[in-house]
Amino acid sequence: MRIDKLLSNSGFGSRKDVKALLKQGAVSVDGVPVKDPALHVDPDSGEVTVYGDPVDYREFIYVMMHKPPGVISATEDTRDRTVVDLLPYEYRRFKPFPVGRLDKDTEGLLLLTNDGKLSHELLSPKKHVGKTYYAVIEGEVTEADGAAFRQGVELDDGYVTKPAELSILRSGPESEIELTITEGKYHQVKRMFESRGKQVTYLKRLTMGPLELDPALGKGEWRELSEDELTALK
Ligand code: URA
Repeated sequence: MRIDKLLSNSGFGSRKDVKALLKQGAVSVDGVPVKDPALHVDPDSGEVTVYGDPVDYREFIYVMMHKPPGVISATEDTRDRTVVDLLPYEYRRFKPFPVGRLDKDTEGLLLLTNDGKLSHELLSPKKHVGKTYYAVIEGEVTEADGAAFRQGVELDDGYVTKPAELSILRSGPESEIELTITEGKYHQVKRMFESRGKQVTYLKRLTMGPLELDPALGKGEWRELSEDELTALK
């Protein structure tokens, strides 16, 4: 691969920015400074450094985050902190974005990547990727709610949801449930319960397709996906 492409893919800016870096003598291959943007390097051998730091020249990154409440699922926001702000610069420079959205007050599994193709596939309505949420609901949840969700319920804008699977973990003055949906409409879980006259008071995403939230991740923590997780997703 050309060194300018490799560096540009690795988050060091445009080809023009990279050319300037090379010109400054900031870039070395195996300890030897290089200046030619057209130089070919083998990404699997030969260590490229910028200002002496080894370059992580992957094209894509895949991060599992336990989204905490109070941060926005976006790449930037004028008022609030975003999920991308929770990542260090070494990861932000890959320009990751969240795959789908969770509400500001929703917690749980969020995938961040710069792989647009994978993101598109996971979000495509045609792929029916299942997402399971744990929720606390004010009031009782009954089998009638389960039957309605299996059938599809009409949301406040007239949209009828695709079949969803409800598991009632505990029903009482305050209930606990798990709900698996295959779509991602705005506020979908909350609005599905609203259609049944019930209110979600806590919401956490547990899974997305084959991906499960790592219980070792505390709120706001993240890690890269394992090889197995990535293989299962693709
Ligand atoms: N459904 C919601 O209502 N909110 C979320 O954040 C995700 C699904």
